[in-house]
Amino acid sequence: MKKLSDIGTIKEILGRHGFTFSKSLGQNFLINPSVCPRMAELSGAAQGVGVIEIGPGIGVLTNELCALADKVVAVELDRRLLPVLEETLAEYDNIKVINADVLELDLQKLIPKAKWADAHHWFIWHGRLTCKARKPLCDECVCVELCPFQEKNITK
Ligand code: SF4
Repeated sequence: MKKLSDIGTIKEILGRHGFTFSKSLGQNFLINPSVCPRMAELSGAAQGVGVIEIGPGIGVLTNELCALADKVVAVELDRRLLPVLEETLAEYDNIKVINADVLELDLQKLIPKAKWADAHHWFIWHGRLTCKARKPLCDECVCVELCPFQEKNITK
């Protein structure tokens, strides 16, 4: 895998695919080399575990998740990122990228019924650990691309 935490590498990949950031989608890509591996670890991704990632961006965190989990489903709204993800995730066969707006997806279909109770807790823990009421950690949030509130919280 190319070093996706390297800004030069990212610019080269995005430039080759003619990608430009969309302000209306509030695109901010998480590339911090120390944050993504830690997030993947804390997410509980492991053998025997399936992961749903919302807004993979260029796939930095996705790479980490694919290395740990059995299966990763990444939901990306921006169709222009699909060829980018195809390139950055090429080494994994346990990834499925879905081009969709997660708000219009039936998440119950993506999450096996046996995991519905767990999923309920994932959302609660997201609120407790990341989207904290007083100080949300938007810089580290995997939902940042989809969140209408991130712009006022993100560190510029
Ligand atoms: S980006 Fe949105 S969901 Fe994520 S921590 Fe910030 S406010 Fe919460």
